[in-house]
Amino acid sequence: MEHIPVPGERVAGYDVSDRLDTDYYAVFADVPAADRAVWDRAKAFIDEVLPRMDGLWDRGEYDLDLARRLGELDLYNDGLVDDGLSYSSPLAAGLVNMEISRGDGSLGTIVAVQGGLALRSLALFGSETQKSRYLRAVARGQVLAAFALTEPDHGSDSVSLETEARLEGDEWVLNGAKKWIGNGSSGGITIVWARVTDPSDQEHDGKVRAFLVPQETPGYNGRPILGKASLRAIHQAHITMSDVRVPRDAVLPGTHSFKDASTVLYSTRSGVAWSALGHATACYEAALAYSQQRVQFGKPLAAFQMVQERLTQMLDELTAMQLYCRHMADLETAGELRPTQASLAKYHNTRAARRVAAVARDLLGGNGILLENRVMQHMADIEAIHTYEGTESVQALLIGRDITGVGAFA
Ligand SMILES: Cc1cc2nc3c(=O)[nH]c(=O)nc-3n(C[C@H](O)[C@H](O)[C@H](O)COP(=O)(O)OP(=O)(O)OC[C@H]3O[C@@H](n4cnc5c(N)ncnc54)[C@H](O)[C@@H]3O)c2cc1C
Repeated sequence: MEHIPVPGERVAGYDVSDRLDTDYYAVFADVPAADRAVWDRAKAFIDEVLPRMDGLWDRGEYDLDLARRLGELDLYNDGLVDDGLSYSSPLAAGLVNMEISRGDGSLGTIVAVQGGLALRSLALFGSETQKSRYLRAVARGQVLAAFALTEPDHGSDSVSLETEARLEGDEWVLNGAKKWIGNGSSGGITIVWARVTDPSDQEHDGKVRAFLVPQETPGYNGRPILGKASLRAIHQAHITMSDVRVPRDAVLPGTHSFKDASTVLYSTRSGVAWSALGHATACYEAALAYSQQRVQFGKPLAAFQMVQERLTQMLDELTAMQLYCRHMADLETAGELRPTQASLAKYHNTRAARRVAAVARDLLGGNGILLENRVMQHMADIEAIHTYEGTESVQALLIGRDITGVGAFA
């Protein structure tokens, strides 16, 4: 007898989630063994946890154990070089971002937040004491960490942030609000970017610096933002800070101005380009598998000329995305990646991923809107990565300034 699904239950009528390892141009054929080993760990993790992700996404739940598992598997290192961390090359880190997002965008964003943003801030700017206490613990997922730059009134213009850090005796007193902060209510630590009031320090007075704030500190209040239609299985927090007191040495000593926050964001933009590739790969592979299984007018969809044209369009986009990512990783390994090159890869790849997802969604017909076939979920998740780490327009302004020499932000 036919199984009738109950509301909320997912029943896959078509098998569209198998990994096909699409690589038409052999872009990843020569991935070195060490990098491939890291990639394989990411693949094995996704294969294991993907069945659990469906329910989490449906219910809007963030399972902190999964964030810890990613650390146990050493998947947060994000190409960072530090004595306290095991090393993953930029290529291995990119492949992790791609593979995890190919499976599930919420997990991909956990990697971006914990590794790309928070761990990177600590590694680049933390004191020896901060690093010895937190660096390895964050890398291993034992402490969950957040990067709090965006504010309710300052997103693209986060350079104008208003959160204040005032020095009073031996303590910093933080006041302000932050929005969209991944891991900001997970019970770990938050790297808070704030504007300093310290008349005794001419160098930093009025400048933006970062502060390490344990989330249990009195006055810190992080609430998950509810009602998201994207990345539903990770929580972003709305944070308020009223008279949050942290010791004088809670400042990350390597931070001196807003430029340091930008340095972190430049580095993580390449990770977003890889994540977009992961989402697009999942959508293309689902559309290809579906078009081979779904029969209309007496033959599989894949046998129609227009369907083949659309599959070709998707493969074309996907291959360009792969080439961007691979070359970007090679440039980064050689120490030659410029920030605006990462911007261009993010700009290209999240836009292309949106197009691929839209075509894939359409090729799956009505089944394309069913979450069980995942394309719709990827489509929704791509919307968030298209916006975070700098929107499409902000990337265009960064690239535009680079190629014309004229800033057009304001
Ligand atoms: C799911 C998610 C996770 C996030 N995680 C984090 C996090 O962990 N930590 C953190 O600090 N932040 C995080 N962010 C914040 C993210 O970086 C911001 O959402 C992003 O920078 C855009 O800011 P905004 O949403 O305020 O949009 P706005 O800045 O209000 O932009 C709205 C629109 O106006 C356009 N626009 C703005 N300025 C210009 C201009 N000068 N010229 C032309 N167009 C312009 C934008 O491109 C956009 O289309 C996250 C956001 C999301 C959605």
